[in-house]
Amino acid sequence: MADRHTQEQRSHNMRRIRSGGTGPELRVRRIAHALGFRFRLHRKDLPGTPDLVFPRHRKAVFVHGCFWHQHPGCRYACLPATRQDYWLPKLARNAERDADVRNALETDGWQVLEIWECQTRDSELVRQLLWHFFNALPPLQPRMPCGGFPAAGSYKSC
Ligand SMILES: [Zn+2]
Repeated sequence: MADRHTQEQRSHNMRRIRSGGTGPELRVRRIAHALGFRFRLHRKDLPGTPDLVFPRHRKAVFVHGCFWHQHPGCRYACLPATRQDYWLPKLARNAERDADVRNALETDGWQVLEIWECQTRDSELVRQLLWHFFNALPPLQPRMPCGGFPAAGSYKSC
């Protein structure tokens, strides 16, 4: 029994490596770990495959890229100047899917925290976000280390 991994498991592991190695997500994982919270990664049996899952607390964390997930009011949630007929519906669909995923999880009794890529640049902020989430404290006022973008709901071009 030299190799106990089936082909299927192997490609599953490869996918996990590819999908799980982004800097922002690693930063959140490291902080969650330092806070002593035990988590699992990318539970595919849950809606949206949350990035970090805390089964004992029934809590799920997504680490979202500000552009792809259209972080409201964030300067990185910009709209490319060209091919807007392609980008607008695509980005709108992403945001819609995120809302559906959140609803599905919450309906099933999960609590969901979204941490945005721009927030992960401030590790103290991530620590506070996780701490409030786990201790069921009132959510923090949304803070954006990027400085934000004044006209929420509208698009800045990039
Ligand atoms: Zn952002």
